[in-house]
Amino acid sequence: MSTPTTTREVHLAQRPTGRPTAETFALVEADLPELAEGQVLVRTTAMSVDPYMRPRMNDVKSYVPPFQLGAPLDGGAVGEVMASRSPDRSVGDVVLHGLGWREHAVVDAVRTTRVDTSLAPAQAYLGALGMPGLTAYVGLTAVAELAEGDRVFVSGAAGAVGSLAVQMARLLGASQVVGSAGSAAKVTRLRELGVDAAFDYHDGPVAEQLAAAAPEGIDLYFDNVGGEHLEAAIASARQGGRIALCGAISQYDAAEARGPRNMFSAIGKGLTLRGFIVGTYAHLQPEFAQRMAGWLADGSIQTDETVVHGLENAPDAFIGMLGGQNTGKMIVALG
Ligand code: NDP
Repeated sequence: MSTPTTTREVHLAQRPTGRPTAETFALVEADLPELAEGQVLVRTTAMSVDPYMRPRMNDVKSYVPPFQLGAPLDGGAVGEVMASRSPDRSVGDVVLHGLGWREHAVVDAVRTTRVDTSLAPAQAYLGALGMPGLTAYVGLTAVAELAEGDRVFVSGAAGAVGSLAVQMARLLGASQVVGSAGSAAKVTRLRELGVDAAFDYHDGPVAEQLAAAAPEGIDLYFDNVGGEHLEAAIASARQGGRIALCGAISQYDAAEARGPRNMFSAIGKGLTLRGFIVGTYAHLQPEFAQRMAGWLADGSIQTDETVVHGLENAPDAFIGMLGGQNTGKMIVALG
């Protein structure tokens, strides 16, 4: 098969104010560079759209640098090696790489990871077997130190990280698991995934709904949402409660971020609130991969995906994910 010399990629056309729109993005035809020594050409078959990409659209320094205007976006992707100038990668290898938002990518082979498609389809490495799965695992274990018998609350519970966190919490010994999500259909799905109680945060104040779902309080809160959810979790937390600050998606588009107004009660309750970035816990990847492979193989963990087809629809997939159109991991399938 002849290798392409051009590809289609999605650029950042404008920095969004509030929720991104179609004008935030531009679909561009671009030349592919010649392969240098140590590089591979990958035909991307699936790419990820993730919440962390939203703050990267602002011109603000963070733990990851901002996207550049007029340049391609990037992010997790999987695909097949079409050409290789590396002794470590062969044509036909299926790899995970970091140059998503384009149909083909020229990548340094050392920045690719070969994935085992006998375990699960390649795109599972963008979800359960990938970064979201590791995030759920380290957030519960290393960050919030889940203990046998803990009462656990997870927000954003029907999303990529959340849907794995609720199931893992149970497997790791939680005595009660409560989840919140943004629709009745997601609440139904959470019950199917085995949570003890679930609520739609649109149905009333989060603090009231959480107190009703977990009348004896919570020991561990896995925070994907921030804002009102975090405040409610602090209010429901029991003595010595632990909170993993994973994400604050309710705040990413906000002009003015809202924090919890009841922080003072963390003092008397002796709460621990600990933020984390999954990359800091890369050393737990082998332990996680082994446990997750076992859970997937014996059916203890179910994985949900929402799949959008075509690079031209990747911006809609991203905007839709921010707006809650996904159940489980939002994936863009290419080609
Ligand atoms: P999801 O698959 O959960 O998708 C995002 C979801 O957020 C939407 O589906 C939507 O679901 C929900 N949402 C959007 N706006 C709001 C709102 N205002 N209030 C409540 N929920 C809202 O994404 P991920 O699983 O990939 O990420 C979940 C969180 O974890 C994010 O905050 C992300 O930034 C964070 N994260 C952090 C990492 C780290 O290293 N710390 C690594 C990976 C993710 P709904 O219909 O329920 O509203």
